[in-house]
Amino acid sequence: MTRLLLGLLLVSTAVQAPFYITAAAGTQPQTYDLILKGGRIVDGTASPWYSADIAITGDTIARIAPAINDQAKRVVNVKGLIVSPGFIDIHTHARRGIFEVPTADNYIRQGVTTLIEGPDGGSPIPLAPFLDKVAAARITPNFAMFIGQGSVRSEVMGEVDRPATREELEKMRELVTQGMREGAFGLSSGLFYVPGAFTPTEEVIDLARVAGSMGGIYISHMRDEAKGLTDSVRETLAIGEKGGLPTQITHHKVVGKKYWGGSVQTLRMVDEARARGVDATIDQYPYTASATSIGSALLPAWANEGGRDATLKRLQDPATRAKVKAASVAIIRDERGGGDPKNVSVSACQFDPKLAGQNLAQITQGRGLAVTLENAAETAMWIVEQGGCGGIFHAIGEEDLQRILAHPATMVASDGEVAVFGRNVPHPRSYGTFARVLGLYVRDKKVLTLETAVQKMSAFPAQRLGLADRGVLRQGLKADIAVFDATTIRDTATFEKPHSYAEGVSMVIVNGQVAFEGGKMTAARPGRVLFGPAKQ
Ligand SMILES: [Zn+2]
Repeated sequence: MTRLLLGLLLVSTAVQAPFYITAAAGTQPQTYDLILKGGRIVDGTASPWYSADIAITGDTIARIAPAINDQAKRVVNVKGLIVSPGFIDIHTHARRGIFEVPTADNYIRQGVTTLIEGPDGGSPIPLAPFLDKVAAARITPNFAMFIGQGSVRSEVMGEVDRPATREELEKMRELVTQGMREGAFGLSSGLFYVPGAFTPTEEVIDLARVAGSMGGIYISHMRDEAKGLTDSVRETLAIGEKGGLPTQITHHKVVGKKYWGGSVQTLRMVDEARARGVDATIDQYPYTASATSIGSALLPAWANEGGRDATLKRLQDPATRAKVKAASVAIIRDERGGGDPKNVSVSACQFDPKLAGQNLAQITQGRGLAVTLENAAETAMWIVEQGGCGGIFHAIGEEDLQRILAHPATMVASDGEVAVFGRNVPHPRSYGTFARVLGLYVRDKKVLTLETAVQKMSAFPAQRLGLADRGVLRQGLKADIAVFDATTIRDTATFEKPHSYAEGVSMVIVNGQVAFEGGKMTAARPGRVLFGPAKQ
């Protein structure tokens, strides 16, 4: 009788109303909050999928078994769908947007349930007030932080190009210690940016050692992803090895056609380091374009020393301006610029929002100049003088991308932000990263199996961060879950039209609460701030 009733109720794909089934006399029935019935469990470990029901009570996975026929407030039939851990994005700039869009729709709709902030050496200092503000914002995904080496250095020394004094180093150690105590998961660096670019390796090792001694990892946007790529990988590995902590190359890529193919060597270096006991890993976004500010990407780092005023002063001095321009021409020709001003486009621009979506060739032309490398460099300097714009740089090779993605030490991360729908022309990675890997690189191009891809999005980053209660579907762990159709999941955001949500995800659960279902965000705001290993 019970089974018959349940069977009838399961005829509809999603049973909305709470219902109760009378248990047989003498048994102690469980009552779950939610049961997902009949899905294919891809549990995050990279084991082959298996058929099972999954029961949730409160914020926890209460049981996973071939057939769970106990009472539940709600049963949802997910037959034919994949049930996986919610995805953990270890590199995001979610500070951009999270307070305007606390539901983080662009991430949740891809199945992402945890956002890690503070990458590239940049974080609020101190962390605690910021994390209080995040918690008060009633966000939908979980949220966590790294402490940023660049921000720490800025706080203590400003943006100067010299090594730290003994006293400054001591102050920086204290700030890293404080960041770890306030809940950071480790130290991030952005040695490509100012002031990271001015930091000697030894100084980074010193601070990494502090984070490592408190259980944190080191994660780095490396000094150079073009000409100096292999030196930068060597440095990142050395920081992990000498600092005595896990080290991660973040958004690993090879920038500039001239250097394409370089991932053969960088991956070999990672393999060799791992073989001798260096705990080195990688993360990556699945696109052949990068995004950052035009000023930091197309001007040399030395031109950005000392902040905006100092940069403007350099550009006003004809001799210095000529040097900046020569360096910028080389960057556009061989590195970030992808060899052609057309390969650089503006994502957002405060001083002139209309520039968003235009490429550097069009903007150069719009200024009445012929489209040459020299004039494109002039336009880049002009953009900086006007107040700066965000840029997208098409200069990454597909072969390197796939080689890096397929490597066992690589996990998936977006490097994106919480998008305000319709605003600007941002990199599509914020909307598409996870769905793109599952659609394009698993289903269509078969670069990865589904199980391996999910592992790179869940258990692997969870292990890296020490999130022992998330990232795997297992009884007793937190119920962060994504339900999707492996045959239809895909990214729809493009460089031309980035404001477009991923498709194929049917349900997303965060801390046991349904956050997304039937194509819509729910009213639930179940996200939590997650704290690192040294939180006091
Ligand atoms: Zn970065």
